[in-house]
Amino acid sequence: MDSTSLFTVALGLQTPWEVRDVGFDPQEGRIDFTVGFTRGTRFTCPHCGAEHQPVHDTQAREWRHLNFFQFQAYIQAKVPRVRCGACGKTTQVEVPWARPGTGFTQLMEALIVALCRAMTVRQVAQLLGVSDMRLWRVLDHYVEQARAQEDFSQVTAVGLDETAAQRGHHYISLFHDLEAPRLLFATEGRKAEVVAQFADDLEAHGGQQGEKQTVGETHRAVRRRPRGPRRLRGEHPRRLHRHVGELPQRGRRTAAVGEHHLR
Ligand SMILES: [Zn+2]
Repeated sequence: MDSTSLFTVALGLQTPWEVRDVGFDPQEGRIDFTVGFTRGTRFTCPHCGAEHQPVHDTQAREWRHLNFFQFQAYIQAKVPRVRCGACGKTTQVEVPWARPGTGFTQLMEALIVALCRAMTVRQVAQLLGVSDMRLWRVLDHYVEQARAQEDFSQVTAVGLDETAAQRGHHYISLFHDLEAPRLLFATEGRKAEVVAQFADDLEAHGGQQGEKQTVGETHRAVRRRPRGPRRLRGEHPRRLHRHVGELPQRGRRTAAVGEHHLR
């Protein structure tokens, strides 16, 4: 097996995609995998799903991949656009190693999400040598995706916790499921406006009829202490931190204190 075949396997690529070239630049500390597709391949139109559409042209793109040892790794590929005979659109095909519109491979995104559960986004950005805005875009995608699957139909008791990100400013409100317990909803702001937002979100996730009445009582339920251990840490929607800016150390501690109120 030659090195390009080896890396084709290592990257999990399948026909028609394969590694064509491997470039190593020790000065820059990076490895570039040039990936290509078999000439004459026809692709499925991403727009309408029509199969076997001819390639119209290609566009050069780059994705950051998992490091190989201490070296940053990138996949380079000329990604085909198909001119679809069925719908008439010219659309870039989806590549198997990344979701559309991102500059990271799926494995790299998985690593980013895992790291950001344990570290601040700024720390992860420094570790990986990328901007924190790029990381936030990845997190936003997966947080939205995960929240879309949340089921609040069994929620019967809700606790609301308000906390200030900075002393006297930038309130954030956290709605907890007091029975589970888990974080249901978090947003900037406080009082009536956020209760209304939460009521909408609760209903959007299958919260039952009459749930709004429960929501109206949440202020009184705020300091009720739920039983059982807290499992907040991994479920905290970290995009919140962007809404209030990169929180200073004091702010993070304040937010943590807010969580402790319900412990
Ligand atoms: Zn089409």
